[in-house]
Order: sequence, then structure tokens, then C-alpha cells
Amino acid sequence: MLAGLARWLRAAGYDTALVPPGASDARVLGLCGEEHRVLVSRDRTLVTHAGREIRTVLLTGDDLTGHARTLAARLGLDWTYAPFTRCMVDNTPLRAAASDELDQIPPRSRALPGPFRTCPACGRVFWPGGHARRMMARLQYWRSLGEPAQPP
Ligand SMILES: [Zn+2]
Repeated sequence: MLAGLARWLRAAGYDTALVPPGASDARVLGLCGEEHRVLVSRDRTLVTHAGREIRTVLLTGDDLTGHARTLAARLGLDWTYAPFTRCMVDNTPLRAAASDELDQIPPRSRALPGPFRTCPACGRVFWPGGHARRMMARLQYWRSLGEPAQPP
């Protein structure tokens, strides 16, 4: 349900697990306990059943920016913590791309200063092109929401 938000958390560099659809409440809470994860959910019943040892954030509605602001406020997370260091698809920490992996990058983008990174799990190569720049702008915007307003 919060798959989009999970991808953004990974983009910001946070270790973010996404439970498969249909996972039982017991399984979700078990994983949170075993892996010391914060439970982020829109499911009020699930959050209520988490117990005291699991940290939880209950989100409401569909507003992604609202969710981003709530997470920053509740968890003190920084949306520009470690941008693009984790695979957005499978959460694996990225490593520097090898020279033969750069072939996957469009020639125009290969001229960029980098960094070029590869996911060791799925083999995707990431580079700082226009898409990454637009994502970075959004991460910076979300970060700015948590900062005190500048005096006029
Ligand atoms: Zn991956």
C-alpha cells in the first residue's frame, strides 16, 4: 500500500523493507521485531497490535508529501540522508559500477561526472541523469519542510 513511499525512503538512503501484499499481521509484526524495524502503516488495527517494543508511525490519507513530512517529524529522518545509495527496487546497498556495466548507460549520460552505481542484487545501474536530479529536488524540498521557517 505504501510502495511508493518505500521507494522514496530507499532513494533517501534508508533501509526500507516492504512486506508482500497479503502478509499476515503476525508476520509483519514478527519481521518488525526480528529486524528492529519501525512499522510504518496506514492500517490502524495493525499499528494498535504492534505492542510497546515496536516503534510505529500511523499514516493517514494518500498525500505523499504529507507522509514525507510526518515521517521526518516522527522519526527525525533526513530526506537527504544518503541519496541514491540503495536500490529503490529491492533495498540493496549499491556499489560503484564496474567499467563493463557502464555499457548499460546511454552514451550521453556516460559523459556525466557520476557517480555511477550498480545494484549487486538486480544488476540495475544508476546514474545522476535528469530523473535523479528531479528526484533529488523533491528530496530537498521534503527536507526543507522540516526546517524552521526563515524569518522574513
Ligand atoms: Zn536492485
